[in-house]
Amino acid sequence: MSGSSPAPRLPVIDVAVVGSFMMDLVAAAPRRPEPGETLRGTSFDEHLGGKGFNQAVAAARIGARTAMVGRLGDDRYGEEFLSFLDHAGINRDHVAVQALAGTGIGLPVVLPDGSNSIIIVPRANDAFTVQDVVAAGQLIRRSRVVLAQLELPLEPTLEALQIGCDGRAITVLNPAPYHEDVAQFAGRVDIVVPNQLEAERMTGLDCSGPGALGAAEYLAREFAARAAVITLGDLGAVAAIRRQSGAIDTVSIPAHVVDAVDTVGAGDAFCGALAAQLALGRDVPSAVSMANAAAALTTTRRGSAASTPTIGETEAFIGQLLRNSLAPGT
Ligand code: ADP
Repeated sequence: MSGSSPAPRLPVIDVAVVGSFMMDLVAAAPRRPEPGETLRGTSFDEHLGGKGFNQAVAAARIGARTAMVGRLGDDRYGEEFLSFLDHAGINRDHVAVQALAGTGIGLPVVLPDGSNSIIIVPRANDAFTVQDVVAAGQLIRRSRVVLAQLELPLEPTLEALQIGCDGRAITVLNPAPYHEDVAQFAGRVDIVVPNQLEAERMTGLDCSGPGALGAAEYLAREFAARAAVITLGDLGAVAAIRRQSGAIDTVSIPAHVVDAVDTVGAGDAFCGALAAQLALGRDVPSAVSMANAAAALTTTRRGSAASTPTIGETEAFIGQLLRNSLAPGT
């Protein structure tokens, strides 16, 4: 008998999401409380959230073998996240449980008009370090796509994208929430996916009209190696894609017309679906088109991670749109 044991089999990962977990404790209220006031709310809900977690769930539902890299607290919220990840088949070999800080918390107050104010307490997310990323280095290096946001500390996030670049992964950055040091990421990002506000802050350009195409082109030239995709809510998205020759093509992708009931988390669904499609070998225009459909479908349902559609639902939705467009009289 040989004394050497076989090398452990490493899981195959399409999308590694290096990102946050936030338990959202949502209160609905008739208005915001005044200083010193105790105000009676009308309902309460708990949602598993955080941009990283939401995007990982979206990528997994679109059919990518997905792993999450991040930090949770050693508490009941942390346990809920772990059990959700297990049920969703999302690898959590590199989700560390932090003994000293609790799981990240979001405290949104939602008013009757749907607007909200949110307090975020990152807790365990803020304890995420470069060492955590190094520990997950092999998984990140072997992933097809590395997807990150700016809800974790910048240094480990930069390191994760660098490892992705070194390992030839496609690196995708959703620069949300906006951070004034985001320029540090230039050179480590293949595809950047800001929303309108983030794109305006990154470029200083007005993205409310045709200016969005110019902003995408600027980001594809100055920030991202392959493409910039700016999401524009109910206007859809614009993309600027660099050809091998270095020339940049721009394209507008109108939003699908749907009965939107809850647009919270639409951007997360978009980014997760985009990453999944890129990992599955789609080119940028096809991946954007699928992400646009998955995000539109998300807005027709309440909740964030829980409302993201599966690949089957998204394909059925696209098929229905196609049939509608081909129907006589349309
Ligand atoms: P974020 O949630 O980050 O602010 P956006 O509001 O730009 O992101 O939305 C992301 C994507 O979700 C859009 O590019 C679009 O594909 C889709 N989307 C958002 N709102 C709507 C809507 N009302 N109708 C259809 N699609 C929408």
